[in-house]
Amino acid sequence: MVKTEIWKISDSGHFTQEDRKHLRGAADIIRGGGLVAFPTETVYGLGANALDERAAAKIYEAKGRPSDNPLIAHISSLEELEPLIARFPEAGRRLAETFWPGPVTLIFEKSGRVPYGTTGGLKTVAVRMPSDPAAAELIRLSGVPVAAPSANLSGRPSPTRAEHVRQDLDGRIDLILDGGPVGIGLESTIVDVTEEIPVLLRPGAITMEMLRELLGEVRIDPAILGPVGADARPRAPGMKYRHYAPRAEMTLVEGGSAAVASRIRELVDERQKQGYTVGVICTDETKESYPRGLVRSIGARSDERSVARNLYALLREFDDLGADYIYSEKFSDERLGQAIMNRLNKAAGYRVLKV
Ligand code: AMP
Ligand code: MG
Repeated sequence: MVKTEIWKISDSGHFTQEDRKHLRGAADIIRGGGLVAFPTETVYGLGANALDERAAAKIYEAKGRPSDNPLIAHISSLEELEPLIARFPEAGRRLAETFWPGPVTLIFEKSGRVPYGTTGGLKTVAVRMPSDPAAAELIRLSGVPVAAPSANLSGRPSPTRAEHVRQDLDGRIDLILDGGPVGIGLESTIVDVTEEIPVLLRPGAITMEMLRELLGEVRIDPAILGPVGADARPRAPGMKYRHYAPRAEMTLVEGGSAAVASRIRELVDERQKQGYTVGVICTDETKESYPRGLVRSIGARSDERSVARNLYALLREFDDLGADYIYSEKFSDERLGQAIMNRLNKAAGYRVLKV
């Protein structure tokens, strides 16, 4: 057990003297081989020196994360990229110029400087330049690339608030920088640019539509579209693990909105009669359709960004409420919807009921 400090930090990018002191203190911890959780625009990250294998090992231990699941190295300027990679392909250059700083991670061939302890033994390295001002300043002050997976226990929903980090990692890490709730709420888009045609490995706020508009042809890794079997060897080892899992058994219900609502009402009544605690994930537009169960709106269908922002907090809330079953409405697979559906599908273990 270590004592985990929690320091507030401005989320506006206007840092007070106190903020600057906290950022310097956090950077000292990272340079000294310690662990600092910090806000980014996607989710909270658990940061350590990406060039220090022992520091990376501490991340795996604190999260309970399998050590073949690679980490993303976070940088604060383009000059910090070149020493980490063997080649800077044209597609990677265009993506970096267009979307960095921002919520897209790029996979490159790694240079000799990046230890295998950071990349899960892979010859490639994942790199991202976050736009969150506190994240960017922390990385700059650290003077090293910062490996930072989501700051949750492995298998729990990613943290979108400092309180989520505290629930999972209190006593396991040195410091939590509390910059308030994050803006996006889903992990970064990941694009592999090591091959001729770039491959989308994880959907996020930089959407497939945006990638294709910039690059033309982009492939989608099959692991995004459905479950990967235990014997599969996915390109990103992390993809084989069941992420984002609530404790409840979750089912997505697909169909016309009236049929979905009526089926979910029936399922709630059945399970409640059996004595179970039942959660319903609906939207601002549909919440009046559900008279019974723990009914929670995930956001507005008219604003999918609100759905992304609330998704993980809602899954955690159902855990806290002791839900045994969760029934959820579905969303379109387009634009940000692809990232939302990817996370909901994983949380549900791809359990879908068509009505
Ligand atoms: P997170 O837990 O949000 O930090 O996401 C880390 C994920 O990034 C891993 O689980 C992989 O899916 C992906 N990733 C990181 N490094 C690589 C890499 N070198 N090649 C492919 N995917 C990677
Ligand atoms: Mg994660």
